Amino acid sequence: LDSSVNTPDSANVKVVVRVRQFVKREIERNAQCIIKMDPETQTTTLLSPSGGDASSRARKEEKSFVFDKSFWSHDANAAHYAQQEDIFASFGSEFLDHNFDGYHTCIFAYGQTGSGKSYTMMGTPQQPGLIPRTCEELFDRIRREGDQNTTYNVHVSYFEVYNEHVRDLLVPKRAGEPLYLKIRESQTDGVYVQGLTDSPVKCYEDIERLMQIGDLNRTTASTKMNDTSSRSHAVFTLTLKQIQHSLSNDETVERTARMRLVDLAGSERAKSTEATGQRLVEGGKINKSLSTLGRVIAALANDGNQQKGRNNRREKVPYRDSVLTWLLRDSLGGNSKTAMVACISPVDYDETLSTLRYADQAK
Ligand code: ADP
Repeated sequence: LDSSVNTPDSANVKVVVRVRQFVKREIERNAQCIIKMDPETQTTTLLSPSGGDASSRARKEEKSFVFDKSFWSHDANAAHYAQQEDIFASFGSEFLDHNFDGYHTCIFAYGQTGSGKSYTMMGTPQQPGLIPRTCEELFDRIRREGDQNTTYNVHVSYFEVYNEHVRDLLVPKRAGEPLYLKIRESQTDGVYVQGLTDSPVKCYEDIERLMQIGDLNRTTASTKMNDTSSRSHAVFTLTLKQIQHSLSNDETVERTARMRLVDLAGSERAKSTEATGQRLVEGGKINKSLSTLGRVIAALANDGNQQKGRNNRREKVPYRDSVLTWLLRDSLGGNSKTAMVACISPVDYDETLSTLRYADQAK
């Protein structure tokens, strides 16, 4: 593929924000929603919470941010209520187009624990999220658009980055020590995880089975080890290989694209680590992955802005500073498209402000 044809533009990083509904305990304590969204301008406003003393009210002032999209998933009765399919529609199809053209894509869910990241990425059987929708649409397209001269191979992997280590989520966990996989780099394959399960799949049901295994592995680890799922990054990867057979001769053309769908560790860890002076190594490492990812995306967004003449600082992209960004390197930047869904809770001023700021620097 000629990389000069599809040069990246500023639209290569999309940033959207989504606010969830109240959960049961918030309804029970009659919580106040401190988020406002304007569907016309895509502005998200964080309101100053009522109550508290004067100094805390002064500190928690009203702040507004504008993103590519502001998804209001707070009350289902609102005219601008955003459902699971609305999130998918905002970049799902566009990203799949890109994959069929042979390029990589990457979607991240960022936010504090309980803000709706896994609801957005995985969803529920009744309300499937971005991952099942992407998988389904992928096979729909292969059925719709496939012709007899093209062979499609789809593979799935699912791993977790925990404490700067990689764990395969598609193999049953052995008793005792978890199995950590090594990261390697080669001329031909780039950066990869050695020995990672990469399962061939023929249909959506195949993937469903794998997702169940993966999620079970995640939850098992999480109950055993005190909620590791909020402390690890889960990376679901679909690899689409298209092999085009030429009619006139024996030649074939291969195109490989990867779709990365990432449920990030809870962002609150980053802040609490600062507060405790990096007391916990683990917290420090999550902090490092999230802050490096923030810097990588900001640098990519900056590059895009620069091409539009808005900025003339070209930054070096710090992929190697964390395992997550190093592994995702080929899915970020270049001809890849990236989206970040910043998930926010409707009640938590400090955490929400920090999420909105993180998302803001990625624009
Ligand atoms: P996280 O993955 O960020 O820790 P979850 O996705 O588990 O958060 O969401 C926390 C709770 O809120 C869950 O009970 C989830 O079902 C619910 N929830 C999150 N987002 C939504 C939404 N948009 N609509 C309805 N319920 C939601």
